[in-house]
Amino acid sequence: MERQPLFLQPVFKERIWGGNRLKTEFGYEIPSDKTGECWGISAHPHGPSVIKNGPLAGLTLMDAWREQRDWFGDLNVDEFPLLTKILDAADDLSVQVHPDDFYARKVEKVPYGKSECWYIIDCEEDAEIVFGHHADSKESFRAMVEKGAWDKLLRRVKVKPGDFFYVPSGTIHAIGRGIMILETQQSSDITYRVYDYGRKDANGNERELHLDSAISVTHFPDRNLPLHYEVVRESRGVVTTLVTEKYFTVYHWDVRGHITRAMDKPFMLASVIRGDGELSVEGKTYPIRKGDHFIIPSGVWEIEIHGTCELIVSHS
Ligand code: ZN
Repeated sequence: MERQPLFLQPVFKERIWGGNRLKTEFGYEIPSDKTGECWGISAHPHGPSVIKNGPLAGLTLMDAWREQRDWFGDLNVDEFPLLTKILDAADDLSVQVHPDDFYARKVEKVPYGKSECWYIIDCEEDAEIVFGHHADSKESFRAMVEKGAWDKLLRRVKVKPGDFFYVPSGTIHAIGRGIMILETQQSSDITYRVYDYGRKDANGNERELHLDSAISVTHFPDRNLPLHYEVVRESRGVVTTLVTEKYFTVYHWDVRGHITRAMDKPFMLASVIRGDGELSVEGKTYPIRKGDHFIIPSGVWEIEIHGTCELIVSHS
């Protein structure tokens, strides 16, 4: 079958901390002014994206993965591995942590834990994240949580647009208000909340906390992860490798005129975060613009992009 890029229809999630910038900045049709997440490339059962074009049009990415596996090459995993989101944090996200694969399989009976990484698309001045903790043991962590000693417990970091953070499973974290990020993560939806600022939802209920599970999966002492990963520039300064870790490699492509990239992975995920242009695949061109999400499938050897745009690209 003729190989085309798979353009995807995102799925939107309303959140207590969400806003309207996915509409005002990205032009998406969102369900309300409390929309927190755009699942741009998702084969997760909690919100699979739908393929918009080509011979697989109308299939969810989850079904395409099951029924048309040759489009995804010879990657040796049972479930689609990655999930790409854009988040609009109009308010603080809960302080949380995610399990690793082993714990996720054993306790939650799901295939993947959740390591994730964040590219800061935009943020307010002085915006900050929680990225790690200062407790030296489970006991002192629990004691500080019970006392509400958040300033002592949490490692807070100021961020600016273009910053990038790798957040492996077991890392206490939270995205702060006023931040838009592109998140590349394992395809998992397991979150253990440690603290939710005592917020109540529209029905007056606080969201559930999961302190015991969180303490079970958190690293002690904290790994004190680096704040800014070394970026490796290649190809005339336009392609930056943001991270290469166990579950994903993530790049920033800054297209200023024209780039050509060889496709040497089973498949690649791409999201346009700024500008517009034209994508050429197998002699055909496709317009691309900010907010588009697509997969370059197996069997494509090279792609070209013309235009002025920025993309976050990943593979597992
Ligand atoms: Zn998270």
